[in-house]
Amino acid sequence: MASGDADARTARVPRAPRDTHETPRQALRRILATGPHTALELSARVGLREKDVATHLEHLQQSLRHGDERFVVEPARCLDCGYAFRDRARLARPSACPRCRGQHLAAPVFRIVRRS
Ligand SMILES: [Zn+2]
Repeated sequence: MASGDADARTARVPRAPRDTHETPRQALRRILATGPHTALELSARVGLREKDVATHLEHLQQSLRHGDERFVVEPARCLDCGYAFRDRARLARPSACPRCRGQHLAAPVFRIVRRS
């Protein structure tokens, strides 16, 4: 059971392209603490696909649930009718508005703030 972390990646660690030992999730956490970003912006910053960023963000959101920091989501919004995707559990960008079926959507914006 204690050997659960000894997967193939820990056995032989490839040299990171940049001088950093951050995991993608640590990088996302650090970037989001500096200010709000969309998944597309984060994708460019950390070199992951946008949908992979969304998956990492979902895990980050879970792990920050009880800590000193709070994961804040400004929900995606329909630019045609103003509908906000407030109850959406997934963080990936929606493709169409459920109310007017419009596809002009503002992407959700994420950030991490300290709890006060
Ligand atoms: Zn709409």
